[in-house]
Amino acid sequence: MTIADQNLVKKMNRRRLLQEVIHHSPISRASLSKTTGLNKSTVSAQIQGLVDEKFIFEIGQGQSSGGRRPVMLMFNKQAGYAIGVDIGVDDLTVLLTDLDGSIVSEHYFELEQSSVNETMALLLKTIEQVIRTMPGSPYGLIGIGICVPGLVNRSEQIVLTPNTHWNGVDVKKQVEEAFNVPVTIENEANAGAYGEHIYGAAKAFDDFMYVSISTGIGVGLVLNNELYRGVHGFSGEMGHMTIDFNGPKCNCGNRGCWELYASEKAFRQSLPADWDEKELNKRFQQNDVVLFRSLENFGHHLGIGLVNIANTFDPEAIILRNPLIESNPFVLNAVKNTLSSRMNVRFETECAFLPSTLGKNAPALGACSMMIESFIKGITA
Ligand SMILES: [Zn+2]
Repeated sequence: MTIADQNLVKKMNRRRLLQEVIHHSPISRASLSKTTGLNKSTVSAQIQGLVDEKFIFEIGQGQSSGGRRPVMLMFNKQAGYAIGVDIGVDDLTVLLTDLDGSIVSEHYFELEQSSVNETMALLLKTIEQVIRTMPGSPYGLIGIGICVPGLVNRSEQIVLTPNTHWNGVDVKKQVEEAFNVPVTIENEANAGAYGEHIYGAAKAFDDFMYVSISTGIGVGLVLNNELYRGVHGFSGEMGHMTIDFNGPKCNCGNRGCWELYASEKAFRQSLPADWDEKELNKRFQQNDVVLFRSLENFGHHLGIGLVNIANTFDPEAIILRNPLIESNPFVLNAVKNTLSSRMNVRFETECAFLPSTLGKNAPALGACSMMIESFIKGITA
């Protein structure tokens, strides 16, 4: 074996061991040797390196069948921190997490009619404040992941945000220059899918769709355990699939797009104009017939598009991200009624339709997990 080969093997062993400790700590050196098949001296040497670099620490004593009890190894999830940002159409979320994705601090803002410049200033100020109050750690801030509701190309440039005006704004460069850490820009539905996959409702699935329903509808596709971005990074624009070819014009250029019927915006437009949030809540409590008919219609329209998605991908699950669906089973039941009346019966048992478990934090948590993953890759590169 050449020296280059030996180095490569060392790096691979190191990555393997760190992943084992991350996913199975507390774990002993002996168990690591057993689960990885690496000999004890390799395990000891590599682990010592990771302990010296503060990625792993040792704790007390584990259980042993006899003799000296082994020291257990833990992943030091506080070795560094990640920031996840979700720039929504009318709100902004900034989360600080440790390397395990646990939220350390969370910041939410309503954007109302804020301009892009105002939102950018608020974002930079918030990140600065988060960094200032971040707990001390060996590696500090390891990266900032930012997601936007629009098209992000493979060079992480925002090329189209139909409901806001971020297209052409170089968010990546501005944030990188301000904080001098790695920055990733991602589409909101892709980040949400990633978040649910790592920490939420889709942990157990390798093939699933994440459907984010708000002003528009965005879909994140995880196929074969990987985010599917498409050639240019523009996959998942299923909010713009036609469900009525004679339907109204959409601002994407198409007609009768799914999101014109099944977005939360469309649902709200179906309600009487004078119903504000308070009125909506009151009628919700009262099981108001007009409201519940509208909710049923919302679920029905969602179901129509979901049938197309399920027929196309044959996924294990479809995760639905919307507060109305997460807070009340009624809409999801309406969705399921539409599905069962329009799909082959086997789908009812073979594809799970589930509400998001991370809720509004899903995209920002996904953005954090992307930064954490690339940091961990970097440790063992
Ligand atoms: Zn459209």
